[in-house]
Amino acid sequence: VVVLLIGQQGVGKSTLGHALQELRSVRYVSGGALIRREIAAETEIGLRIRDPINAGERIPPELMYELLGRELDGRTTEHLVLDGFPLEAREHGEMIAVVGEPDAVLLLDGVPTDELVQRIERRLECPKCYRTFVDREQDRCPDCDAALEGRPEDADLEKIQRRHRRWVGAREGLIGLYDGIGILTRIDARRPPDEVRSLVLSRFEELGKPRR
Ligand SMILES: [Zn+2]
Repeated sequence: VVVLLIGQQGVGKSTLGHALQELRSVRYVSGGALIRREIAAETEIGLRIRDPINAGERIPPELMYELLGRELDGRTTEHLVLDGFPLEAREHGEMIAVVGEPDAVLLLDGVPTDELVQRIERRLECPKCYRTFVDREQDRCPDCDAALEGRPEDADLEKIQRRHRRWVGAREGLIGLYDGIGILTRIDARRPPDEVRSLVLSRFEELGKPRR
């Protein structure tokens, strides 16, 4: 089962993905985390994409799907949850070439942009597992004990706004595509994270129950 998480930056896709990953049958793959891992490891691709990414730009889709294909490497799980694929409707074909047809698309939506911007400016990330933390009540990752860091691309408002405009431009196309196929579920992301997680799990049960 392939599930896509779509929604604006800061809406809670990463928090949800990491919460779902606690189920053994779920594998959560975030495009942003793949990118940041390449950059941190200073691979050939990482060195090539570091400057554009830190400037808040995006990298060519073919490179993203190359990273995704390499990450999956033919390994399968009962539920593959993707975050950041596709970023635009026109990438749909490239995506299915790597993972096949998606079974469900979950749109996390409904949080006002002002609030999202505040969340992004506040958020910190674990440099090992790429889990994000918005509340700033802790400065170390509870799983890895690594010191949390801000993302370079979150450091200034202009970069955040550039990504926001990109989402606004892509949103209707993605909704039209997946509503048309009949696999889109809208989720009100203003609900508490636990409730969002329960909603998603009930959607999974309809698709085939995840193992605990
Ligand atoms: Zn961690």
